[in-house]
Amino acid sequence: MPSTVVVSARGEQRIRAGHPWIYRADIAAVDATPGAIVEVRGPRERTIGHALFSDQSQITLRMLTTGTTPADEGLIAARIAQALRFREALALDATAYRVVHGEADLLPSLVIDRYGDYLVVQTLSQGMDRLLPVVVRTLVDLLQPAGILARNDPKVRGLEGLDQVVEVLHGSIPDTVDVREGPTQFAVDLRHGQKTGLFLDQRENREAATRYATGRALDCFSYNGGFALRLAHTCDQVEALDVSADAVARIRANAERNGLPHVHAREVNVFDELRRLERAGEQYDTIVLDPPAFAKNKASVTNALAGYKEINLRAMRLLRPGGYLLTCSCSYNIDEALFGEVVHQASIDSHTPVTIVEKRTQGRDHPVLVGVPETYYLKCFILRRVE
Ligand code: SAH
Repeated sequence: MPSTVVVSARGEQRIRAGHPWIYRADIAAVDATPGAIVEVRGPRERTIGHALFSDQSQITLRMLTTGTTPADEGLIAARIAQALRFREALALDATAYRVVHGEADLLPSLVIDRYGDYLVVQTLSQGMDRLLPVVVRTLVDLLQPAGILARNDPKVRGLEGLDQVVEVLHGSIPDTVDVREGPTQFAVDLRHGQKTGLFLDQRENREAATRYATGRALDCFSYNGGFALRLAHTCDQVEALDVSADAVARIRANAERNGLPHVHAREVNVFDELRRLERAGEQYDTIVLDPPAFAKNKASVTNALAGYKEINLRAMRLLRPGGYLLTCSCSYNIDEALFGEVVHQASIDSHTPVTIVEKRTQGRDHPVLVGVPETYYLKCFILRRVE
């Protein structure tokens, strides 16, 4: 007997509209074990698709197929193979990139990142977690990696009743792995680094920044120097700011490793430092703002907007006329229009006329699935101070 879940009329409508998530409120009946692949039926008992089932999360179903197309382990393996072929076709100028971006690869709640010969996997729902052995087998077949690490420590796993674990699933994982992004070499700590080690989604924005970056540059919220090291190829001097001592140590080590002595890292709070620099009358030709997500949920949007406006306003004042500001928000809860409004307000309050030179998003290996706004999270505007 296949496991089945019956959805309400509203649930059926949502599935037909193409959204892969069905919430608990739209579930009518369940005959399935936690994490099973289930047949999804409409209120009139017609089969409308197959999905991953969770008995804990508000997101009860994550659709794998619609109509009567069945879903099994073979489908998961085939989709991973397709996702990999797409990434290989992108011919990215990097040895680290995202191989599977969850919903956008029709593999909901699965993340796979490649760091050279090593792979990092996250299974963020009960269903995908149960499929982890299939994921590992498929990756070993396709790529013969030297090691596969499960970075299953994100907090969201708690919503699924899953433990937070970091474990080696295949081969071995060294303390640091060397990867290249464009001209930059990074030593990455896959076990402890943020996300899966690097902020891979910013790769193409770092590349774009070099089209404009000159003179004296300031990289705010630098982490391990992703932007700073890239800017150093076209700028005379780069200052990288991060509040974390570990991050600052990594920026310094990476700067040394890349032979970029004109990158200087400071352990400071960006909010305080921007004010201090303004008081001191400092000026920059290039500024990057890549803060962490200030709005982690809807309730924090108002405070987040104030935070984004504050740093953008200060950065605009520090910019020389003709200078460039690359400003980002990775908060899904602040959409492009709202972020544009923040930039507008910051421009008014700082009395700084700016133009939008480019509107960008996450890298092509993190594509947005049309109709699923949750997959469009990174906004990146390249602004130019006109005078
Ligand atoms: N720009 C980076 C990614 C930034 S992640 C890249 O391209 O890889 C956000 C970083 O902001 C983290 O390293 C975190 O330590 C830092 N951070 C968070 N709040 C901060 C604050 N108030 N001041 C300075 N750094 C902060």
